[in-house]
Amino acid sequence: MLPPMTRLAASVWVTAGEQGIQRALAEATRASDAGADMVEYRLDEVPGDLDGVLGLVEQSPLPCIATCRPVWEGGKFDGDESVRRALFEALAGADRPPTYLDVELRAYQEHEAMRRTVDGIVERAGEGGSPRIILSSHDFKGRPTDLLRRVAAMNQIDATRVVKLAWRARSLRDNLEAFELLATRGKPTIALCMGEFGLPSRVLAKKFGGLLTFAALDQDKATAPGQPTVAELKNLYRWDALDSQTRVYGVIGYPVGHSMSPAIHNAAFDAESINAVYIPMPVAPGWEPFKATLATWLDFAPLHFRGASVTIPHKEHLLRYVREAGGEVEELATKIGAANTLTVRKDGRLYACNTDYAAALDAVSRALQIDPDDLVRRKVGVLGAGGAARAVVAGFAAYGARVTVFNRTPQRAEELATAFNGTGGRAGRVQAAGLDALPLAEADIWINCTPVGMHPNADATPMPWEDKGGPHVAAFDTIYNPVRTRWLREAEAAGCITVSGVEMFVRQAAAQFELWTGQAAPVDVMRRVVAERLHRAS
Ligand code: NAP
Repeated sequence: MLPPMTRLAASVWVTAGEQGIQRALAEATRASDAGADMVEYRLDEVPGDLDGVLGLVEQSPLPCIATCRPVWEGGKFDGDESVRRALFEALAGADRPPTYLDVELRAYQEHEAMRRTVDGIVERAGEGGSPRIILSSHDFKGRPTDLLRRVAAMNQIDATRVVKLAWRARSLRDNLEAFELLATRGKPTIALCMGEFGLPSRVLAKKFGGLLTFAALDQDKATAPGQPTVAELKNLYRWDALDSQTRVYGVIGYPVGHSMSPAIHNAAFDAESINAVYIPMPVAPGWEPFKATLATWLDFAPLHFRGASVTIPHKEHLLRYVREAGGEVEELATKIGAANTLTVRKDGRLYACNTDYAAALDAVSRALQIDPDDLVRRKVGVLGAGGAARAVVAGFAAYGARVTVFNRTPQRAEELATAFNGTGGRAGRVQAAGLDALPLAEADIWINCTPVGMHPNADATPMPWEDKGGPHVAAFDTIYNPVRTRWLREAEAAGCITVSGVEMFVRQAAAQFELWTGQAAPVDVMRRVVAERLHRAS
């Protein structure tokens, strides 16, 4: 038997008057053009306009769901139930009724007259006729304590053709329960989580055979918290390519809403026709939320969760987790004290590593057209002593370069230098200095690992070039927004070879792609996506 097709339903608010109806029709047409295959008309504000609503449903360019959500279930309708009953009767009796009619479980259970109306509609429609009843239940605060009882009740009610549950996710773990509900469904089911932690349930509804997922037409038109847009589902999250076997990857951090990683990785999966999707995975700060989330996601076999990029504030937590789980941790990642990549190997064993340092090494060596082994003859000046500097120093020190760390807080520079001095097999190669030593300092490769010059303070520069530049000097700015920082532009003017932070960003992502898929990354595609995103943001 073929698995049921999961519909992509665009939610459209309908506002009062002829103009409101026309606008809703125009939006439904736009949704159809964008690739939605169903539309939900939210009739909360127009339940009394029977002619307008019937005309809308009649002319709808897509099969539709009619919903008129009362205030007590999170909607906007605050009139008498008799108004909704009249609306439902009219819709059901229309020449061209909506495909689905959404009725709240609470309305059905607690209002005798509503129950009679709904049962009558179902009887007249007959088996397979329209409208089909979606019995729905929403909780905008969190997971209802009686969730499973509600599901059982909805499945038992004869009138129910579709069971719909939506609740606010408190963590990524809630999504797994939504998947579980879909996997064990009796009747066709919609199970979605709302809010910033709920996106996986919306994207992966198709993987688990949900009847549909809801999407907004535009970012500011979501009808429920956390709804993605139709375009995001189609173009960013690879909606058309998803199936039950799709492997899942993501970026774990907090916050992760503005990460470019989903765009870059999904584009790479797409370019290489890999059955995988990459999603944002917000995990609240702290070891406990990280550990609990990762453990449950890894444990849930049907999810096919195979790896993640890990960013602030969880890079140290990843090291600890993989170590405690008996997995393998890359030696240099341990030394750096942070890992940014989790890979679930074919045998299920975990591997944590850091692709940042290799990406920085790779970006600079390629620009200089040298082998990383030649770095032993180069002097490197690193500005900053934070997380990025740690990865950069680790990489260059491991290849024996002579590194000097310059930092605003000299003590941090000292600590960093001490941690990596001698890691390339040669003692005394990594040193620290204060910013006051910069004017007289010389290096073959200068690397900015401070945020000085980053958007929106793009006029700032961490170091004047004065007489430091020249054709044999490389300037590498880890900042990628803007792509050409003032520091890099001035380095170019001073005759230096310049490398943008985009190269490091793309190369660390490319290395992750290669770890996860075992094949070469489409680096040009990834670079193009980053450039487009940055261009759009500027
Ligand atoms: P971090 O851990 O907060 O460290 C920031 C460092 O910059 C610290 O050493 C800090 O000095 C120094 N600093 C901050 N403001 C300064 C100022 N006004 N003047 C002088 N020094 C200043 O940050 P991070 O995670 O290392 O990130 C640093 C930069 O790297 C960011 O711009 C980020 O965009 C970039 N980055 C790029 C990539 C990539 O893939 N391209 C990856 C990671 C990071 P103190 O010690 O005195 O506070």
